[in-house]
Amino acid sequence: MHPCLPAVLILSLPALAGTPPEWSRPFPAHRIVGNVYFVGTEELGCYLIRGSVGDILINTGLADSPPLIAANIRALGFDPKHIRILLTNQAHYDHVGGFAAMQKLSGARVLATPGDAPLLADGGASDPGGMDGFAPVKVDRVIKDGEEILLGDLALKVVSTPGHTPGSVSYEMTVREGGKARRLLFANLPTVVMPLKNPQYPRIVADLRSSFVRLKSLNPDVWVAAHASQCGLAAKRKAGIYEDPKGYAAAVARCEADFVAKVKVELGK
Ligand SMILES: [Zn+2]
Repeated sequence: MHPCLPAVLILSLPALAGTPPEWSRPFPAHRIVGNVYFVGTEELGCYLIRGSVGDILINTGLADSPPLIAANIRALGFDPKHIRILLTNQAHYDHVGGFAAMQKLSGARVLATPGDAPLLADGGASDPGGMDGFAPVKVDRVIKDGEEILLGDLALKVVSTPGHTPGSVSYEMTVREGGKARRLLFANLPTVVMPLKNPQYPRIVADLRSSFVRLKSLNPDVWVAAHASQCGLAAKRKAGIYEDPKGYAAAVARCEADFVAKVKVELGK
């Protein structure tokens, strides 16, 4: 759909079969902190980072999300064609379903972790959780844990947080606003969506354990997540306050408690 179509038509976009309607509902684009903007749908967190020589987009929502994302970017006064790098937190259809379309629109390079690159390339066919598929994309470069993704004045650190998918990943950056530096984390919370006894993903429990250790070692001032509700984004926008170190610690703790309970039930320990 052309992004300049009237809002009423965008509002009437049908949700993809079986997905909650809020995943496909438009949500106003807005600035979170510094040069970082929310451009996703009501529930699917898509984040635009504006840079001196081009922009980075993290997550592209469902297959029906790209027109909404492009309209959001234009509503902010920016051009989706300035996106140079596409990243995701996790190679699931609700975050990479729009990769192929956004790649085509912008010509951006696709960067992915070693764990998620195969899923992106085969449209999710090799997903050990058996999730719905999506349009496959060519991965231009594999990114490694700890490396910095550099683009003009942007530097984004790769923080490996596997377990939700084999290559789930978070990204850390420093944002400057009003002379103050703030640590920003694009977090992938390690929620468990597949069996813990999993022949297709034998290291899932070890991966999840390492992700909790990793996430608890970080102290972001501001954090966002792949799902807007995970980080209470709508309430934060209403309040105009995005600093939330306590909320971050609580969200990670909730996730870990859920994981520990599942280990007990599924593995009996
Ligand atoms: Zn997922």
